[in-house]
Amino acid sequence: MILIDGKKAAAELRAELKEEVAELKSKHNKVPGLTVILIGDLTPSQIYVRNKEKSANEVGLKSEVIKYADSVEEKTVLEKIQELNSDETVSGILVQLPLPKHIDKQKVIEAIDPSKDVDGFHPMNVGNLSSGYESSIPCTPLGCYLLIKKFESNLNGKKAVVVGRSNLNGKPMTQLLLKENCTVTITHSKTKDLKAECLEADIIVAAVGIPELVRGDWVKKDAIVIDVGINKTDKGIVGDVHFEEVSKNAKALTPVPGGVGPMTIACLLKNTIDCFKRSQI
Ligand code: NAD
Repeated sequence: MILIDGKKAAAELRAELKEEVAELKSKHNKVPGLTVILIGDLTPSQIYVRNKEKSANEVGLKSEVIKYADSVEEKTVLEKIQELNSDETVSGILVQLPLPKHIDKQKVIEAIDPSKDVDGFHPMNVGNLSSGYESSIPCTPLGCYLLIKKFESNLNGKKAVVVGRSNLNGKPMTQLLLKENCTVTITHSKTKDLKAECLEADIIVAAVGIPELVRGDWVKKDAIVIDVGINKTDKGIVGDVHFEEVSKNAKALTPVPGGVGPMTIACLLKNTIDCFKRSQI
């Protein structure tokens, strides 16, 4: 079994992006800028945002975090987004989720200019992705896609099973695999026989949020298995795939931690740079 090393792949991607930022700087005399809006004091969100800021600085992006208290009014956030939409030094805007209950997530997502939507959540980007047009692509599925492609460049005709149908992971992942000419099955909590579906797959992407759901005898020999899950358990952080069992069967598998996670942030930087490049055309 080959371990797909997301930490290494993310470091390589960051190194490429760093070079690209340096080139953009010498060509345009400015660098792409990422602005993150963080509302409230949820510890995981604070950690994610700190890591995003650190990685953005590392590759040479201009990075800014705007913080609001939990009690901030929706109107204030929407006005700030409008201001950032028209700020030429801001290439990408990300509003860290989850939001406090009194703020309408969809309104916030739709307020972001689609050309600065580095999370790829705006309906315009969702539609463009599913139509096969250029768009921002949600960072986690983009990271999964790049890991799969790095391991196997030609996915023509492969049978892929995506476990989970969230807007964040499962649905965009399905679109990316379709674009690569895979035959894709999207499965979810109401799927009748998940094991039987997985046993058909050359590629499995598990994005569920249930610790070690995908077992060793669900995976055929030579399958590529991508584990998106991050689940806190008594034995520490585990994925949605039973690593020990599946590693005995699969051709390739991502570990948790050290698999998809590091690629997610690297892809956020990539999306910011791509938004900048599109704005310079
Ligand atoms: P979600 O809760 O929005 O969606 C979960 C999906 O799993 C749903 O579509 C649901 O139908 C499906 N599901 C639930 N029970 C199922 C079952 N028994 N069988 C089959 N499908 C089932 O979750 P999400 O936001 O997509 O996140 C999924 C996991 O990925 C979580 O563990 C989350 O922490 C992790 N995650 C990781 C990263 C990363 O960077 N690695 C990023 C985002 C999310």
